Amino acid sequence: MKIVILSRDQHLYSTKRLVEAGEKKGHEMLVVDHSKCDLVIEKKKPGIIYKGHMLDNVDAVIPRIGASVTFFGTAVVRQFEMMKVFSAIESQALVRSRDKLRSLQILSRAGLGLPKTVFTNYSRNVKDIVKSVGGAPVVIKLLEGTQGLGVVLAETDNAAESVIEAFNGLKARVIVQEFISEAKGSDIRAFVVDGVVVGAMKRQGKKGEFRSNLHRGGTASFIELTEEEENTALKAARVLGLGIAGVDMLQSKHGPLILEVNSSPGLEGIEAATGKDIANNIIRYVERNV
Ligand code: ADP
Ligand code: MG
Repeated sequence: MKIVILSRDQHLYSTKRLVEAGEKKGHEMLVVDHSKCDLVIEKKKPGIIYKGHMLDNVDAVIPRIGASVTFFGTAVVRQFEMMKVFSAIESQALVRSRDKLRSLQILSRAGLGLPKTVFTNYSRNVKDIVKSVGGAPVVIKLLEGTQGLGVVLAETDNAAESVIEAFNGLKARVIVQEFISEAKGSDIRAFVVDGVVVGAMKRQGKKGEFRSNLHRGGTASFIELTEEEENTALKAARVLGLGIAGVDMLQSKHGPLILEVNSSPGLEGIEAATGKDIANNIIRYVERNV
């Protein structure tokens, strides 16, 4: 098979591991920088030009699209779909998962546990917003943030109101969420491939940090999920339509609460924490579908 990995950098751990796992199974692996693709749209002959050549005879694509290039990246994935190439992540699901608010709405409709969350159109009634999620402490998140940047813990009502007002003034969209203190600066990530949890880890934020992101200095370790956590992760991936998903959850008094679902989850942390060959799971998923 000829498998394209859409990635802006062939030296990234996840990209390298996917190439390695595919080549081991005898596939031709090609890393394509989606930001350098040109899409040719004409009657019944959709095509993609990359580095001066048409990309053809591709059997499958594995998108690794960063948040900063979602718009163009998903257009490239969609173009592959038009060319009847199997994508490990559907373009629709990719767009859906990139919108934190939309994802939360879909997850809530599916009856999945979530921290209570409010989103407003720059409302001036900041007091009511804070009250509606139970008062301080609350977490305020930029809708477009990733890797823990743009996630703020406001410990008092006053602080919360000032932060929300400041973001509103900058016309930056935020969600306001109840703070789950019993998570104690940790969260869990379940890595789902094709309806199966293939690995899970617990991430713990560094001392004095409520955000557990590895990019913010958190550390990861292997964790055995409870049945409820596993079912929550699988259902989340399913309702968002994701063949590959990193489902992040907080362990609360009332069971798992979903924070977000990542459609290009990194392999480095999870493979190190679990000792599993997650890249091979992804290649096998692609093989089953082509
Ligand atoms: P990002 O997309 O930037 O990773 P997240 O929503 O995942 O944003 O938040 C980053 C981290 O902050 C989470 O991994 C978690 O450790 C912590 N966190 C986020 N929301 C809450 C919350 N409501 N209660 C407690 N901790 C939270
Ligand atoms: Mg996160």
